[in-house]
Amino acid sequence: MKEIFLCAINNILSGTCQEDCKFCTQSVRYHANIERYTYKDITQIVNEARLAKENGALGYCLVTAGKGLDDKKVEYVARAARAIKQEIGDLNLIACNGTANKEQLSYLKEHGIDSYNHNLETSERYYANICQTHAWSERYETCEDVKSVGLALCSGGIFGMGETSEDRNSLLQSIAALSPESTPLNFYHPNPALPIKTRNIELDEALAIITKARALLGKDKLLMVAGGRELLFNNKENLMFNAGANAIVIGDYLTTNGMKPSSDISMLKSLGYKIATQCNTTEI
Ligand code: SF4
Repeated sequence: MKEIFLCAINNILSGTCQEDCKFCTQSVRYHANIERYTYKDITQIVNEARLAKENGALGYCLVTAGKGLDDKKVEYVARAARAIKQEIGDLNLIACNGTANKEQLSYLKEHGIDSYNHNLETSERYYANICQTHAWSERYETCEDVKSVGLALCSGGIFGMGETSEDRNSLLQSIAALSPESTPLNFYHPNPALPIKTRNIELDEALAIITKARALLGKDKLLMVAGGRELLFNNKENLMFNAGANAIVIGDYLTTNGMKPSSDISMLKSLGYKIATQCNTTEI
């Protein structure tokens, strides 16, 4: 029976970013109506991680808004990781904190982080259309540094932001060249405050992306349908799993609501899938 891996996200520092990514409600430039806060309380993070584990999450991602890590932020994420590992134990901890150097990544690894998420977002060619405050090459370098310090790499992108099919192929090729352990595929979720007003992706295109990603990444990797799943695949989740996806995000996303974990678990059971209980893939 095919296993589906569940991952949950905690936005531990939200909505205070100075960058200009045109898809992101956490940029202060676009005044999106989201909750904004700095440094969520560590006890609250541990309690939320415990709940995610009870809901079946194997992976738990600690996300901070902002271009990248600084000394204060790296220490905070390390503290959160230590506390979760101490209180809860065997959750696979993922940090998602933007641009990071090798020293910072090694520090996170020493303090309990298992994996680092840094998405390439879109193709190298299209990137300047969605962000002008930092370069695609910087994102790619952080991904390479993640691997060089021995952290597992989680890297994917967002589809439906106005890019062409060539851009989509180019993004998938770039992701595959990094050979990440897991790849989140996000499908753009429009927000009226953001400069990108509409989503240029339909269900059949999203399925083709999943199929292609699976072929490029190989059978033994995690391929996750993350943000935008509810907009494209509601009640059609079997299509995305048949196309090659084997992981989903449960609970809420960074600034948008997801399905209730209990609904997703019922959906998986009704489709005949087993919920994975260990972080290694068995059958795709
Ligand atoms: S750097 Fe990250 S948090 Fe900041 S605007 Fe871009 S995607 Fe959003």
